[in-house]
Parts: sequence; structure tokens; C-alpha cells
Amino acid sequence: MEVLVPAGLEKSYLFVRTQRMKNVLKVQAEIFKGIRDYLDSEGFTELLPPIIGPVTDPGIRGAKQAKIDFYGMEYKVMSSAILYKQMMATALGKVYFFSPNVRLEPLETAYTGRHLVEFVQVDIEEAYVDYRGAMRTAEELVAHTLGYVKDNCSRQLEELGRELKVYKPPYPKMTYAEALDMLAKNGHPIKYGTEIPWEEEELISRLMPEPFFIMDYPKCSRGFYDMEDPDRPGILKDFDMLYPEGYGEALSGAEREYTYEKVVERMRESGEDPAKYGWYLEMLREGISPSSGFGIGVERLTRFVCGLKAVWEARPYPKVAGMYSP
Ligand code: AMP
Ligand code: MG
Repeated sequence: MEVLVPAGLEKSYLFVRTQRMKNVLKVQAEIFKGIRDYLDSEGFTELLPPIIGPVTDPGIRGAKQAKIDFYGMEYKVMSSAILYKQMMATALGKVYFFSPNVRLEPLETAYTGRHLVEFVQVDIEEAYVDYRGAMRTAEELVAHTLGYVKDNCSRQLEELGRELKVYKPPYPKMTYAEALDMLAKNGHPIKYGTEIPWEEEELISRLMPEPFFIMDYPKCSRGFYDMEDPDRPGILKDFDMLYPEGYGEALSGAEREYTYEKVVERMRESGEDPAKYGWYLEMLREGISPSSGFGIGVERLTRFVCGLKAVWEARPYPKVAGMYSP
């Protein structure tokens, strides 16, 4: 996919006056409604998201966390709200929040068309649901939202030149190992155990005709909170959904590790110092429910729905790695 180099970002306040951007923002507002419409009707409770805290998600693929001085203590700006979701699901069953995240992404991501430094994830968690159940929620949520937007934004989509398809679930599911096979057959061999690079993510997303899942990632490529399958050591009960047409990753999710002992073991294996995770580990010691969930980026969903070249066209005041902007 040809990706535009972000231009004029230092005056991004002007973007919103163009008809194109107005259309994108109208569609985005309907995307929010479509998401809430689905989740609320399925009995989820919307919660306020955490913004800062002593620790945040370390599993952010090469990005750095943003720090703030909290009365002499170092706090982080949420890179994701993962650490907060499990207890919320324990208490309320099915929960979600629109969670603003900050990730100081590597400089080269300014040109992937998929990365912002500040973005919003809809973070979803369900107690007593396994990762297959979470995948069902994810595909139903995406299908419902696409249908909702198609019904309510036909004029804007037409002006944007986007013919949006409403893909019906269930969506195809392949394992990480099968995805690597597919890439190798298409001339892109990847070493088992590593994350699929941006270029290959785009390629596989172009090869598939509808949204699809890649599941069962190897342990070394993901955060300590994705559950290791007890029947298949080294394999995680986790998944990504990817959009077709080369748009790449839509969302990531997993069944969660939830016992104190296993989480500490996984932290040690992945080089994380358990001492940093004081409150989180104390919470696990108190006891929480098994759960599964995922996070879907709303700017990437907007990009896909509107057929935009780059994700920085999919929100007001975009922040892109290394570039000055309001
Ligand atoms: P992750 O936990 O890294 O898988 O992030 C969950 C979801 O958030 C991804 O599947 C994307 O939809 C979205 N996301 C993650 N990082 C970014 C980013 N830098 N810019 C925009 N969206 C992102
Ligand atoms: Mg991901």
C-alpha cells in the first residue's frame, strides 16, 4: 500500500476544515455509536479508562512508554489499560472502555500508515469466556459496526469514494504457524518465534479477501498476560484480527493469565522485573476471575472504514512519531 508521508502536520488544525476530514469525523462518530450499540446491547458495562498509573503495558512491540512526574514518583501514561481490565471483568462480568493510549513508537512507524503516538483503543474484557469466545465477540463487534456505519453514513462514504463491504462472521481463522507458511509460499519467509513484520502483515492482509484471525502466537512474541496453553507449552491462547486490502492489524486479544504464580513466572521469562508490578501482583494474589478480551484501535478502524491511506488521516490532531504537531 502506498503510504503518504505526513505533510503539514504542524498545522493539523487546518485539516478539519476540509470536506474530506469532516466526512471522516462524521463517520468516526458513527463508528463510536456502532461500537457502543453492539456492546451495550450485549450487556457490557462502559467504564471510565485509566489515564496514568505506576505501571502500564510493557508488551508494545518496540515502542517506549511516556513518563510523568507524579509528586516525585514516576508514573506512566497508559500504553494500554490491560492491567486494569481483569479486576473490572471480575466485578462486572463484561466491560469495556474507550481508552486513550500513548506509545512513543519507533521513528520508522511515521511511514507505516498504521501508527500514531496517541490513539484510542476500545478495550474489552469478559469474565469466564475463553479466547474463542473473545474472537466471536470481536468478529460480531466489527461486523455490527461496519453495518451500522454503512446504514448511517452512505453519503459520507460515497464522497470519500469508499465502497464499504459488511463482512459476515464467522471470519477465517489461521494459526501463527499457518500464517508463516502462507507468507513463505508467497516468497516472504519469517523466522518462527518473531512478530510478523509490518511489510509481511500488509502482504498477508492483502492476500485475504475478508477480515481474518491469526491465533496461537508463540510465547516469545507477546506480553506476559496472554495465557500459555497448558496443553501446548510455548503457544499462547491469543489472536489478532487483520483487515483485508492490506490494512493490516485491527485488534489483538487473548485469554489471560490470572494466577499470581504463573504471571510471575511469565514476567521473569520475558525479562520483566516483578518488583515493578506491585499493585498488579497484589491484586492477583487477592484472586481474580479467568477472562478474555481484546483491544481494537478506533483510528485504524476508521482508516479501514473510510479507505484512507494513513491512520493519521483518521483523527483530529494526529501525533506521529518524531514529528512536531499541535
Ligand atoms: P496492541 O495491544 O499493541 O495489539 O494494540 C491493540 C490495538 O490498538 C491494535 O490492534 C491497533 O488497532 C491499536 N494500536 C496499537 N498501536 C497503535 C498505534 N501506534 N497507532 C494506532 N493504533 C494502534
Ligand atoms: Mg497487536
